[in-house]
This record gives sequence, structure tokens and C-alpha cells, in this order.
Amino acid sequence: MPARILDGLKIRDQVFDELRAQVIDLHMHHHIRPGLAAVLVGEDPASRLYIKSKIAACHHLGLASWMHTPSANTTTEELLHLVDQLNADYRVDGILIQLPLPKQVDTKRVLEAVDPAKDVDGFHPVNLGRLVSGRPGLVACTPAGCMEILRRNDIKIEGANAVVLGRSDIVGKPMALLLMHANATVTICHSKTRDLPDVVRRADIIVAAMGKAGYVAADWIKPGAAVIDVGTNKINDPTEAAALLKNSPQRLEKFKEKGSILIGDVHPDAINTAGALTPVPGGVGPMTITMLMSNTVKAAKLRRAQAPPDSPQKQNPPSAAGAR
Ligand code: NAP
Repeated sequence: MPARILDGLKIRDQVFDELRAQVIDLHMHHHIRPGLAAVLVGEDPASRLYIKSKIAACHHLGLASWMHTPSANTTTEELLHLVDQLNADYRVDGILIQLPLPKQVDTKRVLEAVDPAKDVDGFHPVNLGRLVSGRPGLVACTPAGCMEILRRNDIKIEGANAVVLGRSDIVGKPMALLLMHANATVTICHSKTRDLPDVVRRADIIVAAMGKAGYVAADWIKPGAAVIDVGTNKINDPTEAAALLKNSPQRLEKFKEKGSILIGDVHPDAINTAGALTPVPGGVGPMTITMLMSNTVKAAKLRRAQAPPDSPQKQNPPSAAGAR
């Protein structure tokens, strides 16, 4: 029997409905409109597209949004100055710095300058530290989205053997911590892991975040396991597409029409061994923006709705100039 599809778009719609209700509640009871400031440096078309979809999501949910677009030759100092301004602006609940930043910019310094209370990407060491110690904070969006997929599909995490493939700061490590806090027994794998197929075969839950198209073979997956495929690899090579999609004729046809296709880190044939599986696209991808929106609303609640009544953080701006 083919795997149950863990549909990220469906969960996004559920979470968006919940967030819309929370945004209305914040407005009605606290006169707060959560707001996200996005910083896009330079003209990279892919980054521009990402930012546009994040701003569109804000619009869709009734959040305020601002876009700052320093030129590609901006300096670290200029970006630090902008971050300072956004930190001080009480209307801004979330600050998003679209990565990658140009080579001349010290990315770490810029990310660490963001007020942890506005760090809706969950990249700041303060938020990472909170995650390590299991305290509430803002959690990186992609792993938070993976957890949402597991929970909303009633996949049992407690006691499960979970294998995370990849140990990046933005996906693998926070993912492993979230699973551990949810009482899974977690193994983290990376490029130096020995006997990877055997390690994966023991997993009840697999999270693949390596950036290697179709790398996790179908026969590495324990029958019935839940598979969360974070990988998004664009394939342009017809030979590679034909090999990966040998048993997926409809997707191969799509590749032939478009000349490219997105493939996860898990082989498409895993649909026949896994018990449940996130599709690529349409699985983890939509959850990343969803959790960014969720973090922005959460940041507004934590910073403003819980601030003392006469605190300046509680006040609304006379006019949200520049807000969309
Ligand atoms: P990354 O920083 O490049 O990290 C890749 C990780 O995979 C590293 O820890 C690396 O190990 C490990 N790895 C590489 N080859 C391996 C192998 N043969 N066996 C075992 N482990 C191996 O990537 P990332 O930023 O975490 O992203 C991973 C994937 O997720 C990419 O495809 C990315 O596009 C995708 N992604 C998707 C979303 C989304 O919204 N859907 C969001 C973020 C990322 P070492 O540490 O030893 O090098």
C-alpha cells in the first residue's frame, strides 16, 4: 500500500486559519497588529521571490509588513544600523534577514544583532540556547514546521526511534532537539556517519535534510516508518531525472514538459515502503513560511500583549506608515 501523504499545504491552511483568529483577537483585545520587517540585500531573484511570498503571507493574515532593500554593496555597519532601527521600532515584532548576505557582510554579526525577542527565524544564540534547555522561545521555522506535520498527523513521537539526516544549525540540530524534547530517541547522522542505511533502517521517524536528491533509498526505510523529507533539490539533468523517476512516469512527464523538477533527499520510490511521507514539493516547503508567520504572531504576543499596560511596547503607532 502506498504511503499516506503528509500534506503540508493542508496543514498550512489549518495553521493560517488559527493565526487569522489570533491576529483578530490581538487587534480587538490589545490593539496590536503584529508586524514583520524583511531585509533583502541585493537583487538575487530567488531571494526576492522568497521575500515576496513571505510579505504576501503577512498580507493574507492581516499582519503589517515592511521591506527594506539595501543594495548588494552594503556594508556590515550599514546593516547593523538598520537592525538597530528595527530593534527599536515597537511596531516591528519580527525581523527577517534574507540569507545569503553578500560576501563582504559579516552574516553572524548581523544575525546576532537582532533582538532575540524579534528573532522570528530562531537563529539567534539566545533562542538556540532556550531550545537546548527546553525553555519557550522562537524556534527555527523549518524544523518547527516538521514537528507541526508530525503532530497534526498524529504520528507518535514519544518513544519512537528518530533519525535526523543532517546537522546544520538551521535544520538538523534544532530538529533533533525538538524530537528529543518530544521524547523520541534521536540519532543525528552526517557525512561521516558509518553504515548509514543500517542506522536509517532502525528509524520509526526519518527526517532527511542533506541536500542530496533521492539519496535515501526506498529499501533503507523500515516498512511503515514516517518520513519527513526536507530536501529541495532542483534537477535539470534528463539522465538523472530518468533514473530517479523510473517508477514515477507522471512526474517524469512533468519533468519533460518543464525541463526541471524538485526532488527531495528521499528517493521517490520510498512511497512504497514508508507508512507516511511528505511530498516534495508540497510537504515541508509550505510549512517554513507558515511557521515564520506563527513566530511573528507569537513574538507579538510575548513582547507586546504581555508587556505592562503603560509600557511603550504596548502602544500602537499613530499610523503604520510604510506598512502594507
Ligand atoms: P546544509 O547546511 O548543507 O547541511 C547538510 C547536512 O547534510 C550536513 O550536516 C551534512 O553533513 C549532511 N550530509 C551531507 N551529505 C551527507 C551524506 N552523504 N550522508 C549523511 N549526511 C550528509 O543543508 P541545510 O541548510 O540543512 O538544508 C538541507 C536540505 O534541506 C537542502 O536540500 C535544503 O535546500 C533543504 N531545505 C529546505 C527547506 C524548506 O523549507 N523545505 C528549508 C531549509 C532547507 P556534514 O555536517 O558532515 O557536512
